[in-house]
Amino acid sequence: MAEKQQERYEDSDLYRIRHSAAHIMAQAVLEMFPEGKIAIGPPIEDGFYYDFDLPRPLIPEDLEVIEKRMRQIINGKHPFEKEVISAEDARQLFRDQPYKQELIDGLEKGGQDEYGNPLKEKPEISIYKDDTFVDLCRGPHVENTGKINPSAVKLMNVAGAYWRGDEHKPMLQRIYGTAWHNPKELKDYLWRLEEARKRDHRKLGKELGLFYFSEDIGPGLPLFAPKGEILRYLMESYVRELQTRYGYQHVWTGHLVKEDLYHRSGHYDNYKDSMFPPMIDENVIFRLKPMNCPSHMTLYKEMGRHSYRELPMRFAEFATLYRYEKTGELTGLTRVRALTQDDCHIFCMPEQIESEFSLALQLIQEVLDRYRFSDYKVRLSLRGEQGKYVKDDEKWGRAEAALRAALDANNVDYFEATGEAAFYGPKADFLARDVLGREWQLSTIQVDFIQPARLGLSYIGEDGQEHTPVVLHRAVTGSTERFLGVIIEHFAGAFPVWLAPIQAVLIPIADRHLPYAHQVAEQLKAAGLRAEVDERGDRMNAKIRDAQKQKIPYMLVVGDKELENGEVALRLRSGENPGPIPVDRFIAQAQEDIERGD
Ligand SMILES: [Zn+2]
Ligand SMILES: [Zn+2]
Repeated sequence: MAEKQQERYEDSDLYRIRHSAAHIMAQAVLEMFPEGKIAIGPPIEDGFYYDFDLPRPLIPEDLEVIEKRMRQIINGKHPFEKEVISAEDARQLFRDQPYKQELIDGLEKGGQDEYGNPLKEKPEISIYKDDTFVDLCRGPHVENTGKINPSAVKLMNVAGAYWRGDEHKPMLQRIYGTAWHNPKELKDYLWRLEEARKRDHRKLGKELGLFYFSEDIGPGLPLFAPKGEILRYLMESYVRELQTRYGYQHVWTGHLVKEDLYHRSGHYDNYKDSMFPPMIDENVIFRLKPMNCPSHMTLYKEMGRHSYRELPMRFAEFATLYRYEKTGELTGLTRVRALTQDDCHIFCMPEQIESEFSLALQLIQEVLDRYRFSDYKVRLSLRGEQGKYVKDDEKWGRAEAALRAALDANNVDYFEATGEAAFYGPKADFLARDVLGREWQLSTIQVDFIQPARLGLSYIGEDGQEHTPVVLHRAVTGSTERFLGVIIEHFAGAFPVWLAPIQAVLIPIADRHLPYAHQVAEQLKAAGLRAEVDERGDRMNAKIRDAQKQKIPYMLVVGDKELENGEVALRLRSGENPGPIPVDRFIAQAQEDIERGD
């Protein structure tokens, strides 16, 4: 089941294609502006860029000219040739290129690659040459420019970028481009971009009336309107019921905690930058809760002496946590300062790690399935060689083996990431792809050998002795806010019926049908459906259009005929038009859809 390692992007074909396209673009730009200065041009996710210092701002028409010239260079099938040179020769070669001079200094000193990124080893200095263009570069590249499909390259846009990302340094012009194996891949990518723009949860959130951000409240602190709150409620109740079924107990641990607890748990040292500033009351320092672990562990302790017979104990909580994020890093619901985690801590004996991990995997799989994430895999983060890991080979080895065994037993696709584990134990992260193929890290399960001992947790074992429990930290959807942002885009706002804030809207054709519309709406509500009546005086077609925009699953039109026959004329948001149906039959059908998880 486990692929041992994923192919790294750096080793892929596309990486070489994009890196080579960046060089080709730089050549075309320098031909246009012979006095231009070049900075750096790496491949990035889905494409590449190159930063330039040019005598004038680029306009869209320039990109067309550059793109055309790139195609000519590609068709020239110029080989990429590498040469290792001395720093001195490099300085001479790039004597007119001040940005390259700075990069050469960095390379020579060591600790930096040709893009100025930190590097462990001291690199050799090499150049790559193709056609008339030479770049400070360690590759890799395609064999020759002809290996790039000229119809699968596109320049996207120009943006300002400070040299080395430093606002005190010169502002450069960055041209973004994309390159793929073939035109079909390019077309698919452009479609995904367009679709992602349409599905942007910040845009849809407003259009659907789900949530708002206000200057008066503060950045990263979302306000949820009734329709957004209903979503939160449904998402949380669903997980809550599931957790109860899986043997979890729900607890509540508040919002403020004495800072001292975080010193003892070790969070203060590791997370103090993510905490909001302290609140001081009578010389006691309090913090807004940035995580639940120490609170749940304290609760475990306060509940008295525990026997091995009580284990595993599974504490779950929907807790709103407060994390300090820089305002520039906040984005919609996916990065906020107040986040509600569906957090859980499982207190167990070491020999229960495998079965508890397995149970958590099953729960997570059930949730992902419910939200129609069918394409996911697990990154199993293991300990590496470096010294940051807690030394206890036996514990680590056993826990890692238990995790692998559980993943195999549950048929979960996983790959191993050595050296990625937290310092306190191995962990498994679920990476799920949405309908646009974008990968999101959602659920996580972490094994913890450290905190329970630090906070003095214990249980009395079968041998009558005191032992320290192992804790599994587990989150299913991560946070309600972020997960909501992800599924708004995943479903493009058209939530499954069970989750739709409004499931059915009654659309009376004329005012005289209003009483009947209300009567049906009451019937639906009594049957547990979320229904409302569109009472506005607008024309029927306008109301249908609005309901479709609101992505309401069922539109129920009522006029004379429907009133007479006790029916509703059913239309679906997909545009399908099943037509008249008796009210009770519609209710039964809707309930079936909900039951099925549609
Ligand atoms: Zn290069
Ligand atoms: Zn935790």
